[in-house]
Amino acid sequence: MKRVLVLTSGGLDSLLTLNIMAREGLDVIGVHYISWFNIPKFKMLEDFSDEDEIMGFRLRNIDVSDDYTNLLLYPKYGYGSAINPCIDCKIFFFQRAKELMEELKADFVATGEVVGQRPMTQNRNMMRHIEKKSGLEGYLLRPLSALILDPTIPEREGWVNRNHLFGISGRGRKSQMILATELGIEHYPSPAGGCILTEKGFRIRFNDLIEHKKVVSVDDLFILRYGRHFRLSPENKLVVGRNRVENEFLQRLSWGNLKIDLTRIPGPFGLMEWDGSIHYIRSAMKIITRYSDLESSDVTVQFPITFKERSRFVSHSGVADERQIDATIIR
Ligand code: SF4
Repeated sequence: MKRVLVLTSGGLDSLLTLNIMAREGLDVIGVHYISWFNIPKFKMLEDFSDEDEIMGFRLRNIDVSDDYTNLLLYPKYGYGSAINPCIDCKIFFFQRAKELMEELKADFVATGEVVGQRPMTQNRNMMRHIEKKSGLEGYLLRPLSALILDPTIPEREGWVNRNHLFGISGRGRKSQMILATELGIEHYPSPAGGCILTEKGFRIRFNDLIEHKKVVSVDDLFILRYGRHFRLSPENKLVVGRNRVENEFLQRLSWGNLKIDLTRIPGPFGLMEWDGSIHYIRSAMKIITRYSDLESSDVTVQFPITFKERSRFVSHSGVADERQIDATIIR
């Protein structure tokens, strides 16, 4: 029995691809690349196990965070409209798929890509180019658009019957929804909000990060998805939770070297990259009280702060107004 790796995001197109491949009598393994930017909000990478399942299919979760960080900082083909290095991203994912093909003794790779669905990477020429660069030439099947693409080796060799494949193109989802009904797929996610790397707001946070840090870690990137961000100085940056869920989540993260906790007031939980100057702790306290339930400017509050695993209390008086906050909000 021939084995196929189906690259899956969990969206409708990849669910269809899993099912179309199973219908051909193939041994199907789903492959899900996980990284700090594409896992659901408030999930950590360690929340995912290596082996999983999706709709009854075996699924391998592959953490690509470290390699992806390098790719994001130095994309060979540049960025799209924000900081989305889509062409490099696709080549990278397919190269990893080629390595996995050898490791898992698979015969080819399939994806749910549809011609014309995304301008940058899913036009025919670029699809061909990406396939070639990844080393998967001939071994990459896109069953949803196969009839408008050149026949692949799995089709030519008869591992997959080309007559069972489709010629879908464009950005609409109607054909896929009809196909889902035909294949008995009742539950599938509505179109996702898209990749966070394509968001302009995220680009602003990313640019601030690379402007101020020479060496960027996965933790530095991961935290860009959460909280309000304040640039206090080139070396001092504060992130505060916007609500209870975010406050709780920030407490799980290992970013920064200083924790400031006002959640008992109630108020935000803050994480900070701190250079040791008391001046910036004062600035951080002003910001945190500003976003707390404290109202009186006469009030004095004891802040628990944790630095190098040791906790102590620091006092702060008054609730600052906007003009007293000496920091740039990184939108
Ligand atoms: S949208 Fe995001 S995940 Fe998709 S190719 Fe571009 S960078 Fe990669």
